[in-house]
Order: sequence, then structure tokens, then C-alpha cells
Amino acid sequence: MAHPLIGVSTSTTFGKDPERAYVNSAYLSAVQEAGGVPVPLPPQLDDRSIAELADRLQGLLLTGGGDLDPATFSEPPHPTLSEVSPARDRLEISLLRRFMEARRPILAICRGIQVLNVALGGSLYQDVASDPGTEIKHQQSEPRDQPTHQVKVVAGSWLARVLESEELEVNSMHHQAVKALGRGLLSVASAPDALVEGVELDDPDSSHFVLGVQWHPEELVRRDPAARRLFRAFVDASRQ
Ligand code: MN
Repeated sequence: MAHPLIGVSTSTTFGKDPERAYVNSAYLSAVQEAGGVPVPLPPQLDDRSIAELADRLQGLLLTGGGDLDPATFSEPPHPTLSEVSPARDRLEISLLRRFMEARRPILAICRGIQVLNVALGGSLYQDVASDPGTEIKHQQSEPRDQPTHQVKVVAGSWLARVLESEELEVNSMHHQAVKALGRGLLSVASAPDALVEGVELDDPDSSHFVLGVQWHPEELVRRDPAARRLFRAFVDASRQ
């Protein structure tokens, strides 16, 4: 198909009145500019809707948002925990498992890399400023499209090949990060403080497109060709 259908997970105003589902339009623009058709997936979808959609979607984009419920990785909640939505956790983890099984492409951004890691049995630092503690500001106050810290990408990794770069300047809008890696994942990008900023499958022979990044490439596509290449590679992989 010329223009693959890309499922895009959304945030929700969980338990507020009115309850809403919403997604930053930068994700939708980035998918469309790369040639895909974004299909927003609100956590309010029921099991039947999810099952029907999952069969039709060709790629899955897990977006940024609130914190995962730490129960998903068997840890007590940190005091800074915010915007937890068990419904969103369930939807994303269930879609991720379907896409892993069907070997369909997955691009996991910010909260997305954390969902990918936890769904595969990994854990998270629940507040990087206090645990593990870092000199780098990972929750920038600068505009969202402004890079604020460096990332080094492992030479020869899938991510480095897609980005065509082993050194990037990225934006940073997260207070959590990957701690113990999930099964079958490899850390392929890191910040100067060694925090994980990118993961891929630990399988050199895999043709399955699964990439997670802790920064926000959807906000960088106008200024950064590497960000455009990431979305283009993801949408292209979803065409098969
Ligand atoms: Mn960061």
C-alpha cells in the first residue's frame, strides 16, 4: 500500500470531566510528511475495537505522555509520579505485544521507549533527577524543537544506520528513563550521563523494525534531517 496506516497512541484526561483523548499534532504531521496515514488510538477504545484496528494497522507509533503505572514493573510509586493512566498502559502494552508477534514496525518515542522496555520485562528510573541523579537537564525549559543535550549512538546499530549519524543534538522532555533493559533489547544510544536514550532489538539478523528513542524527533523534523530519516524509515518499513 502506498500510504500505510500508522496507529498513534494518545494521552487522556483520565477520570476528569470531560474525559478527553488527545495527541500533539507534531506526531501526526511527522507521520504524514513521511508518507503515512496516522490513526489516533485513544485509551477509551474497547477490546473489540482494538482487536479490529490492530489487524488493519501496518505500523505502531507509541507517543510521549504521562508516567506508566510502576505496578507494571513491580515497583512502588515515586512521589513525583504523574498522569498515570492504567487504561493507556493496557492499550499500549497489548498493541505492542500484537505488533511484536506479527513482526510489524514499531517506533517508540519518549514514554513509548519506556512502554516498550516495560512490556518486555524491563524497569524504569521513576525520576531521573533524584534516581539515579544526573547533571544533565532531561526536562528542558527551552522550546520543544530546540536540542539541549547530546546523544551518542552505537556505531553499526540499526538506529545509527537509520539516522545516518552517531552523534546527535536532541531535545529532552522526560523525567523517567530506562533502568533495567527489557528482554531482547539493546541500548544503542546514550546521553553524556549514560542514561539510555535509544533501544533496538538485540538480533543482528532481525528484519523487524523496532526502535525506541527517549527524545522527541517529531518536534525536530523541520530542522534535523536525521529526525526526518527516522520517520521516513519507519513509514517505509510499514509499507511491507
Ligand atoms: Mn534526555
